[in-house]
Amino acid sequence: MQLVPALLPSLIQAIDNVIETNAKEVTALDQAIGDGDHVTNLQRGIKALTAQSDELVPLDWATAWQKIGMTMMTAVGGASGSLYGTLFVAMSKAARDRPVVSEVERPLDLQAFAEIFSSGVDAVKRRGKADAGEKTMLDVLIPVAASLRQSAADSVALPVALENVAQTAIAGMESTRDMLATKGRASFLEERSRGHIDAGAKTSQLMICALVDVLAKQLT
Ligand code: ADP
Ligand code: MG
Repeated sequence: MQLVPALLPSLIQAIDNVIETNAKEVTALDQAIGDGDHVTNLQRGIKALTAQSDELVPLDWATAWQKIGMTMMTAVGGASGSLYGTLFVAMSKAARDRPVVSEVERPLDLQAFAEIFSSGVDAVKRRGKADAGEKTMLDVLIPVAASLRQSAADSVALPVALENVAQTAIAGMESTRDMLATKGRASFLEERSRGHIDAGAKTSQLMICALVDVLAKQLT
């Protein structure tokens, strides 16, 4: 499999489907400890990405991620819009420092992607002034970045790395259930935030698992 931006339309389509399928469940989560708009926010962004997905195909990864980040920032809104926007813009910046992935048609390797994704997640931490254990999307993103780095360090085969990512994302999402929210709207509820999965952690996990499914199918 070649990890090239030509995959983006099918990846965006998969994200659209998984959020649509789980919209009710996620909205219920955000209604429990947030303001209930998370799915609507995200779907505004996904719609905008779908509209531009053909434009992404001929780009190099750095340019594609920059475009995706700007679209997320302007279309999504809410806390999650600026955080996802920051993730992709920072990934673009990290990719530009690596000419090998800035070349069109040049496939991305696991080591490079692990480092680029980790730079993106670090930028989200700074933007949200948050870290692991605060009941946010970072409880999925931080362990997934670590899993990618570990798989790259161990030189595991891509299907195994993808499976590790999916399992890590699910475990991270589940881990938010018993956490006390200390960032975002859920933090206003203090102790009452416990017992509910964080909506942003849930959508991050769903999107990551949907991406993994598409990529795993490409391998078979
Ligand atoms: P808003 O909270 O502004 O209504 P959304 O509902 O779209 O925005 O997104 C809420 C999600 O954003 C939360 O479930 C959480 O995962 C994530 N989030 C909120 N604040 C932060 C933060 N400071 N750092 C990381 N993630 C955050
Ligand atoms: Mg909200």
